[in-house]
Amino acid sequence: MKPEDEKIVLAGFPWDQKSSFMRGCADAPPLIRESLYSYASNTTAENGVDIRRESILDVGDFEIDNLMEIEEIVAGRLKSGGRILSMGGGHSVTFPILKAYTVLYPDLEILHIDAHPDLYHELEGDPLSHACPFARIMEAAPEVRLVQMGIRTLNAHQKEQSQKFGTEIIEMKAFSPDRLPQFTRPLYISIDLDGIDPAFAPGVSHHEPGGFSTREVIQLIGNIDTPIIGADVVEYNPLRDVNGITAALGAKLVKELLSKMVENGKG
Ligand code: MN
Ligand code: MN
Repeated sequence: MKPEDEKIVLAGFPWDQKSSFMRGCADAPPLIRESLYSYASNTTAENGVDIRRESILDVGDFEIDNLMEIEEIVAGRLKSGGRILSMGGGHSVTFPILKAYTVLYPDLEILHIDAHPDLYHELEGDPLSHACPFARIMEAAPEVRLVQMGIRTLNAHQKEQSQKFGTEIIEMKAFSPDRLPQFTRPLYISIDLDGIDPAFAPGVSHHEPGGFSTREVIQLIGNIDTPIIGADVVEYNPLRDVNGITAALGAKLVKELLSKMVENGKG
């Protein structure tokens, strides 16, 4: 076993107060965790890494009263080179997480998988809505390179925002497994489960047909050959799930991300 500060931290942020359409994502982390450790499967990922035996420190779920408290929690864990995989919560949690990351990695690269670009300047008067985290992070850290995939709801406002911030959007309609982005700097991966087609991921608040298959996302992760410094899996909404299918998907992606972080190392 590795010393504690060498391990990848697995943490839950059960927070959905900034979700626009419906609540429910706050109940996600324990259910994803239950599926992750369930005897229905095992803890070895497709690359052969057993996430229970190697390098993982599960610190449980953080009860928070205010969204930006997450920044401090993450910053504390990043000291001495730690890496975190977070389970949401709504996508609003990604802004404080990334804000902590950009202090240490001002020019990090982000792979963002989502049906939505989440680049609204504000939604319903709220700049911290789950529709806004990537606008906030591009304002806070303009050196960041943001690659957005799975997008199939690009309206005029968010297209303008994308151009303003210089984000690279590969719309779902233009996706081809042979044309994948190359990463060269420290990489953070943020997966909104609604990026995957609702046929595979019914347990999300915003059903947007025409998305990735589960296999396509696993291949995307599997093909990354640079160090991954952190990741999150967000927007699982148990109120919409069918037979726990989306909890199992969230757990599968957590497992594949953790094992890929182990495989690729810290760089
Ligand atoms: Mn989304
Ligand atoms: Mn999102």
